[in-house]
Amino acid sequence: MTSTQVRAACPLDCPDTCALLVTVEDGVATAVKGDPDHPTTAGVLCTKVSRYTERTYHEDRLLHPLKRVGRKGEGKFERISWDEALDTIAARLKPIAARAPEAILPYSYCGTMGLVQGESMSSRFFNKIGASLLDRTICATAGFTGYKYTIGASVGTDMEQFQNAKLLIIWGGNPIASNLHFWTRAQEAKRHGAKLIAIDPYRSLTAEKCHQHIALLPGTDAALALGLMHVLIKEDLLDHDYIAQYTLGFEELKQRAAEWTPERVADTCGITVDEVVDLARLYGSMAKAGEPVAIRTNYGVQRVRGGGMAVRNIACLPALVGAWRHPAGGVQLSSSGSFPTNKPKLQRPDLLKKIPRTINMTTIGDDLLRPASPAFGPQVEAVIVYNSNPLAIAPDSDKVMRGFMREDLFTVVLEQFQTDTADYADIVLPATTQLEHIDAHTSYGHLYMMANNAAIAPMGEAKPNTEIFRLLAARMGFDDDCFKESDDELAAQSFNAQDVRAIGFDWDALKQKGWQKLNMPAAPFAQGGFYTPSGKCEFYSAQMAKDGLDPLPTYLPPYESVASNPELAKRYPLAMISPPARNFLNSTFVNVKSLRSAEGEPHLDIHPDDSAARGIADGDMVRIFNDRGSFVAKARVTDKARAGLVVGLSVWWKKLATDGKNANEVTSQQLTDMGRAPTFYDTLVQVEKVSA
Ligand code: SF4
Repeated sequence: MTSTQVRAACPLDCPDTCALLVTVEDGVATAVKGDPDHPTTAGVLCTKVSRYTERTYHEDRLLHPLKRVGRKGEGKFERISWDEALDTIAARLKPIAARAPEAILPYSYCGTMGLVQGESMSSRFFNKIGASLLDRTICATAGFTGYKYTIGASVGTDMEQFQNAKLLIIWGGNPIASNLHFWTRAQEAKRHGAKLIAIDPYRSLTAEKCHQHIALLPGTDAALALGLMHVLIKEDLLDHDYIAQYTLGFEELKQRAAEWTPERVADTCGITVDEVVDLARLYGSMAKAGEPVAIRTNYGVQRVRGGGMAVRNIACLPALVGAWRHPAGGVQLSSSGSFPTNKPKLQRPDLLKKIPRTINMTTIGDDLLRPASPAFGPQVEAVIVYNSNPLAIAPDSDKVMRGFMREDLFTVVLEQFQTDTADYADIVLPATTQLEHIDAHTSYGHLYMMANNAAIAPMGEAKPNTEIFRLLAARMGFDDDCFKESDDELAAQSFNAQDVRAIGFDWDALKQKGWQKLNMPAAPFAQGGFYTPSGKCEFYSAQMAKDGLDPLPTYLPPYESVASNPELAKRYPLAMISPPARNFLNSTFVNVKSLRSAEGEPHLDIHPDDSAARGIADGDMVRIFNDRGSFVAKARVTDKARAGLVVGLSVWWKKLATDGKNANEVTSQQLTDMGRAPTFYDTLVQVEKVSA
């Protein structure tokens, strides 16, 4: 028997981007382990990816091209050859491309985070066609934009420093489920005497293990940050020298923060005045004493109307107290802006003859149902879905389903499994998993460039996304040299080796070693150097004023709240959030039996006061509904959800859920204040017991 270990990287939409060691015996991957030598992975993987071989060799893997023979959504398919699949697709796309190329739409996201199997050959293909551009907003663009206005780029505290913090505020995230290796460091900090505070409407697994949990109302984080600023300024818990040298607009901020008294903030956030004042005092006084104070903020705060502003307000806090002076101080939203990736080379926007329209992936429900119009352009006639499962993950799911039901819509899905979306495809193409192809990766949690080697041969007739788009390009008659580049050639262009941060990047060397740390300063903003137009942390942003936004930190109540829509709040009095279930990653892994069994079935966490008022007992089946739709789940009566809040851990595949529906039946297509992002946690519902 031959046994080897192959260096790989986790492809999933998780900030940790773990370094993997894949054991291969006689061509079969038998184990996936965390690389003990990679500093952030440290030999540990989450349960999900420890089971990656179970997923790779799953009996339901798609191994051959398929064509639909039943109704859309019915899931009836029959096997066809690659030639038939590619010929059919090219025959359908060619006339559309000649007549109205923008009627062709790619739909993709982070099913893999790989630079090669994500947007490289695929982008070249769609750029050559002149297809609609896709605004990939479904997760991070609200916070990205708010952070960018303030700090200038997605650069923050190095993950490898958090264990040295003395105060760690975990704001809007549940790292035990979705940022495990940060949590390891947070626990180490705790062992060394650090105080951990969770800010989250829900008492998540993480919040349970912190010293303090501040359970604010969903969508009110921006107000809490303003309240903290108010107290810091009023009680002079500030680093005046840092503010004078490295920030812009303090006097204007001071006036704005004065409006946000602890009483007003407590009332807005549904917490106590003491919670606001005590947190500000702790944060400010520890920073003043020279202790490292850090904030790990995450995507939970931004899935509401004012989500971009919430991140912006939080990002202002470290500069007020000079927390950036310490490597273990500051804030991290994402480290993605640290990487000098070479996207123009990979994606070749120069292939576009003119700039096409852009369609927002968040509003796919409406946009697939839109007729042609001068404002919208041509009706969408063909969708090619890869690395995504819009039927399960996009908001306002009934509309998404109706869009994909259109008989005149030609749909191609590149997939590893027959997902909810694949059920609506005309042609399904089998795609490889991370063990079967090569890729290069950044991270949005740490600072390592990562390589993924192929550990095993592709399963069945599955092909990497890159190869599928290469073959499609050939069928479409595209003969540019860029469509002939191999995956190795693509990966070698991933990072700009001329950039000082990636100095010495060499793809062959990276494949051997598995990772290479970026050349970044330990404390990125200890002496200013922000990536904003002024080079300072911008409390006042002239760019925001130009973009029609309030240039100062402010608060916008959720669309669906008593403050914004009292009539709606009367009919639908419960706020619903749908954060990630621990054993799923977005909609990936829901079909892995052992992981699905660990989650059980779709649940709804509801506070005892709210369940009693509705005659609901623990374990009852309940219907969660609003004007957009409904889904069924099993009630868990628990004070983990604060009164007035219900929590449905997600994202279930609809066809594996109790009633064939999931939480996105009730979420809306409204967009955030900036970044054009979804507002999944800005959702009012009513809940009722399902009669037996
Ligand atoms: S999902 Fe996250 S924690 Fe799990 S192996 Fe991948 S990168 Fe690591």
